[in-house]
Amino acid sequence: MSQVKVFNKGYDVATGIGEMLHTTSIRHAFGMIRRGVADPVELTIIDDRIVPTVLELTRELSGAWVEGVGSRSIGFSYRAIHERDHWTCAYCGRSVSKTPLVDALLATVDHILPSSRGGESSWMNLVSACRECNHRKADRTPAEAGMQLRFEPFDPSRAYRVAGHIEFFPVLEKVAS
Ligand SMILES: [Zn+2]
Repeated sequence: MSQVKVFNKGYDVATGIGEMLHTTSIRHAFGMIRRGVADPVELTIIDDRIVPTVLELTRELSGAWVEGVGSRSIGFSYRAIHERDHWTCAYCGRSVSKTPLVDALLATVDHILPSSRGGESSWMNLVSACRECNHRKADRTPAEAGMQLRFEPFDPSRAYRVAGHIEFFPVLEKVAS
């Protein structure tokens, strides 16, 4: 099965220099192109079909999240949750990162399923939230509170978010660049 290389935004077609994130299947590559997550930058012909061999993300992933991609373990902390969520409230979309002082005042981490009801402190149950939204949601689920998550949480050792979509790293498909 042919694999497609996925590069971070900034890939230089002329020199082939770029930051390779992972490889993926042709099928998945077509999905990423359709969703506007990545653009094809190199093509080839396989069995009379034009297929991509290299994709470039349409939005740049921040360095913190691409280092050691595919084999990384990322330290879990509330700060790391904010980094993953780009210091953006998952409920209202406001930034909680204008200055360190604003962070201290406004940035909270919300348990989607409240900890009082057994929700754990994990990548999948925590999102960045502003103090106001966190307070409003209180000990309720988003559905009970009538609040909608603007983005889904994910485990950064298995996936990343680009252009609003979560892309999963294929398991055991890391290819040396
Ligand atoms: Zn908010």
